[in-house]
Amino acid sequence: MNIINGKKIAQNLRNDIAAKVKTLNRAPGLAVILVGDDPASAVYVRNKDNACKEVGFYSEKINKPGDITQQELLDEVVRLNNDDKIDGILVQLPLPDHLDANLVIETISPEKDVDGFHSENIGKLMQNKPYLRPCTPKGVMTMLATTGIDLVGKDCVVVGASNIVGRPMAMELLNARATVTICNSKTTGLSSKLKNADIVVAAVGIPKMIQGDWIKPGAIVIDVGINRLDSGKLVGDVDFDAASTNAAWMTPVPGGVGPMTIATLLENTLTAYQNRK
Ligand code: NDP
Repeated sequence: MNIINGKKIAQNLRNDIAAKVKTLNRAPGLAVILVGDDPASAVYVRNKDNACKEVGFYSEKINKPGDITQQELLDEVVRLNNDDKIDGILVQLPLPDHLDANLVIETISPEKDVDGFHSENIGKLMQNKPYLRPCTPKGVMTMLATTGIDLVGKDCVVVGASNIVGRPMAMELLNARATVTICNSKTTGLSSKLKNADIVVAAVGIPKMIQGDWIKPGAIVIDVGINRLDSGKLVGDVDFDAASTNAAWMTPVPGGVGPMTIATLLENTLTAYQNRK
């Protein structure tokens, strides 16, 4: 079994971006808005800020109090939409309950929507005319490309159908001309679907729910899940050890899809910069 080393692929991507940034007149700019003091969100924002610094981007970390009003947050997004130093805007999710995350996302200019969540960007992905693509699924496509395996005609099963991972992931694979089955919590006979899959993408959020003997011999298994056990250990949605006896390629957790998501955010910010220019 071959490991798809997300950490290494992400580092290569960051190196490529850093080399490109050196050739530009102006550093691409990313603004990240963090509302409230959720510790996990604060860590994600800090990692994004550090990644920006590593590749030579201009980065603004904007902390807003947890009791910010909807209008104040929208005003901040509009200010950044009009700020020429900023090419990408990201609002760290989840937001506190009194705020409408969808309204905030729809207020971000689609040209600066580096998370790729704006309905205009999702619509373009659906039409196979992608502009800014959601980071996690796009990062998975970069990882799949490193295997050198042609995706055309492959049978893929995406387990999970969220707006940020499962659905855009299925569209990415369809755009690559694979055949895609998308599963959700009401799917019946999941194991038999997986047994026919050349490529499995797991994005559920349930530790080790995908069992080793559900994996077709020779399959590629991409584990997007990040689950923290009571022991503090991070595990994916796939039983890695058991699945590795059947799979030909697998992503580890940690060190798989996670690092690719942030590197792809940088890639999207560079794309947004180039498109705006
Ligand atoms: P959500 O909770 O938004 O979505 C989970 C999806 O899984 C839903 O579509 C749900 O179905 C489906 N599901 C739940 N139970 C089952 C089941 N038994 N069988 C099949 N499908 C099921 O999660 P996210 O998409 O946001 O995240 C998924 C995982 O990926 C999490 O562990 C998260 O931490 C991780 N993640 C990792 C990232 C990375 O960079 N590596 C980035 C983003 C997320 P239904 O639609 O019916 O509710």
